Amino acid sequence: MRFVHRKKQGGLAALFFVISMTLPSCGDPDEKNKRVVLISIDTLRYDTLMGGEKPSSMPLTLAWAKKGLVFNEFYTSMATTLPSHVSMHTALHPWEHGVSKNGLILDEKFDTVAEILQEEGFSTGAVVASAPLLSQFGLSQGFEAYIDDFELNPDKKHRVAGAELSGDNFYSLAETITESALQIIASTREDQFLWFHYFDPHSPYGDTDPDRMRTMEEILGMVQPGPLEKRTEQAKRAALVANRLYKQDVAYLDRSLDRLLRNLLEDDRYKTHIILTSDHGENLGELMTIGHGVHLSREALHIPCVILGPDVAPQERNDVAGSIDIAPTLLTLAGVHDHELRGRDLIRENDQIGSAFGMRRIYVEPMKDIRLDRRAFEIPDRLFFTIQNRKIITGHSEKLLGKSALELEASDPETAKKVTMLFKLFEEDLKGTSASATMDPKLRKALKDLGYVE
Ligand SMILES: [Zn+2]
Repeated sequence: MRFVHRKKQGGLAALFFVISMTLPSCGDPDEKNKRVVLISIDTLRYDTLMGGEKPSSMPLTLAWAKKGLVFNEFYTSMATTLPSHVSMHTALHPWEHGVSKNGLILDEKFDTVAEILQEEGFSTGAVVASAPLLSQFGLSQGFEAYIDDFELNPDKKHRVAGAELSGDNFYSLAETITESALQIIASTREDQFLWFHYFDPHSPYGDTDPDRMRTMEEILGMVQPGPLEKRTEQAKRAALVANRLYKQDVAYLDRSLDRLLRNLLEDDRYKTHIILTSDHGENLGELMTIGHGVHLSREALHIPCVILGPDVAPQERNDVAGSIDIAPTLLTLAGVHDHELRGRDLIRENDQIGSAFGMRRIYVEPMKDIRLDRRAFEIPDRLFFTIQNRKIITGHSEKLLGKSALELEASDPETAKKVTMLFKLFEEDLKGTSASATMDPKLRKALKDLGYVE
């Protein structure tokens, strides 16, 4: 929370307010207004954008990325939408900001990038694309305009996750976000801090084509009870369908994002810097897992991070970084150096090694890790992770868990011990919890259908 006068408005009213302000004019390049933009793409894997064993599925966005600073070892703080975004905006880990799952509220006491930049005189605006980021969950702090009216493409008949929602929308497709974003971009002559959130890679998969769209439930339903061998075959087919539809959504997003990036970076009225990243990745059949949240895999945690703009030279970096480093870096790009946010300024600090920590969301009910082939595994109620030599080491206060952790214990027991101690500290911090939002039953149902909240 910052003690400043805030013009808090929400929805379309806020958008009209911003649009009605005076349009900017061209001037001396050195005196251009600053524009700092965070673009967060929900559920986008690192390799989907940057390529790897397979080529990039987003060639247009990749062409932009190659003009900027690319982080090859960037990790989310949690493979869950709201907590991960809160880390990006506050430079705090989930056990520090207390939003340890979707549906909790970010406490007013925390400072966000938007609040700090608003105090510095920046005009602030956000467009978000799905229900976990509704203003009621607290990330609207510091934003004069916070557009969270969800709308699917009105030209097409879309089913919504949870069909009984009778036409209510709980997320927007990319073109809706880009259109709102372009209106905000064109609206002020002041320095701007903007946040645009896209949701397209998230399930339901294939929702850019309602005839082919599949909800997560439908993908899981492609595997029927029966002998493991048969389930394995069905699971492989289900994974292929999920992969194909995910790529279809991502290709649509790529075109819309290209339009936004072109408008931002070719607009010579502003000195524009952009951080483009993701809140988490997605399992698409690897190790028989699908979706995100439960399984702390590389596919779910390893995400893209690209910084674009005139002060950033094209470069690839291999030091480890994560969600909490976004906020201080945004402030540097805005020219604000006097602040108390934690995290690492990725522009000014390259310590060659770096670090990233995180955790799995907290589950209220005992939870099982259910695989695509219907096998179910017991999971601990708390699980933290860190990155050691490009490997994800998982565990909690009592012991490390998983193959990579066992390898670390065998090869470097001292480091393994230190990691366990660290997880113990994280767990102690987690005891300060955040309040649950009061949600209307319909919203709770929608979040549940999208795989959020119990
Ligand atoms: Zn998400």
